[in-house]
Amino acid sequence: MLVMKFGGTSVSSRKSIEVICNLVGTNLHKKPVVVVSALSKVTDSLVAICTKDNFSEAVFDNIYSKHESMAAEFLGGRDLESVLEYIKQCLNDVKNKLTKFFGNGNSLVPLALKDEIVFCGEKMSSFLIAAVINHKTKIDTRQVLSSTCITTNKKFGSADYLAASTKKNTRLVILPLIKQNIVPVVTGFVGATKGGEITTLGRGGSDYSASILGFALEASEIQIWTDVDGVYSTDPRVIKTAKLLPLLAYEEASELANLGAKVLHPRTIKPAVFAKIPVKVLNTFNPNGTGTTIVDFVDEKKRRVKAITTKNSVPLITIKSNEMLFGKGFLKKVFDIFARFNISISLISVSEVSISITLDNKENINDALKQINKIGMVTYNEDYGSLSLVGGHIMDTPNLMNDIFTILESANIKVHMISYSGSNINVSMVILSRDINRALELLHNHFIG
Ligand code: ASP
Ligand code: MG
Repeated sequence: MLVMKFGGTSVSSRKSIEVICNLVGTNLHKKPVVVVSALSKVTDSLVAICTKDNFSEAVFDNIYSKHESMAAEFLGGRDLESVLEYIKQCLNDVKNKLTKFFGNGNSLVPLALKDEIVFCGEKMSSFLIAAVINHKTKIDTRQVLSSTCITTNKKFGSADYLAASTKKNTRLVILPLIKQNIVPVVTGFVGATKGGEITTLGRGGSDYSASILGFALEASEIQIWTDVDGVYSTDPRVIKTAKLLPLLAYEEASELANLGAKVLHPRTIKPAVFAKIPVKVLNTFNPNGTGTTIVDFVDEKKRRVKAITTKNSVPLITIKSNEMLFGKGFLKKVFDIFARFNISISLISVSEVSISITLDNKENINDALKQINKIGMVTYNEDYGSLSLVGGHIMDTPNLMNDIFTILESANIKVHMISYSGSNINVSMVILSRDINRALELLHNHFIG
């Protein structure tokens, strides 16, 4: 079985929907299971109308006409009628629920109701796409509501799946369809609690649901069809020579995501990768591309820097205290303060009397700084950014550190702080923001080309 997930942009243009139909047709022998997101911006609109002030007829009209024009592009007669009827029903259902809710004097829509509301986006797109694939290819298709497959906990808005019952339910629903040569077109992003309440897996959660279905069905491959060619060695908008990475280990993809690359979120593909199912990132707008394959482990002979990511601005804190000299528990005090104010630490380097820390977020920073001031001398700076080189066993790259320092020094770029990951997968440096792109270009040229 092959799980093919198509994102919002892929189900929103005539050209890419044609590509979807072709892909399903040519992969029929692999028994495809299609997963779709809502049409572009539809989830945003559905989230918006959950606020009383935005709850308006105009938003419903807009959502309806988006689907109507797409349906009319491909369908006619009875097929078109039944799709439009379904879209109307879904939207009416949403309208009734919210009218009732706001009518009772409530204003703050609870997460559970919000999940039911946004489900409508994926329901409409899956019904539409199932009809279009059938109409164009004559292949039998069937809309499947993922709430009948994916069982989750009760964390409405960002639920997690429960492996055992998800596996059981998914197989119960999907396998009979596959046996009858019917292509299931499954809603993304949504599950249900054991009691049947609708939950969502978090924004952008369709990748996650595709990965969960792949795990449950023991698929041979999961394809995430999106609007970029795959994962690149760095942001191709910044460095024109950025290279597409054909193969990545799950750990490398995770580091890249955490260190600033806008790739697939690692949480979303975890169920698949850990079940040893390869996940491919492919481009609906360039379907003949090779894409990027992410697997749990890559055994590569030659060690090298595979990718470089940057963050243009990272808050940097340096704390000096004589208490650190031979003292115990100083770091704990510092970390406790960050934890208390919900600030997440990214990179850290420690000397005998000082520590430097970069942060992932700076909400509450002033309150945290006040507390830290009580235990040491603090400087806070927002002039810095970070640059990270990523690759499995990166430390075995010949001359790695020597080359980094020689290159940066000859360009007069000062490294303020450096950190190796214990897992031997990245080297990160803190340098002035204004030097970041220059450093990126030099290091990318040298290590990647
Ligand atoms: N439609 C949902 C969202 O926009 C899920 C997804 O597209 O992955 O967040
Ligand atoms: Mg998405």
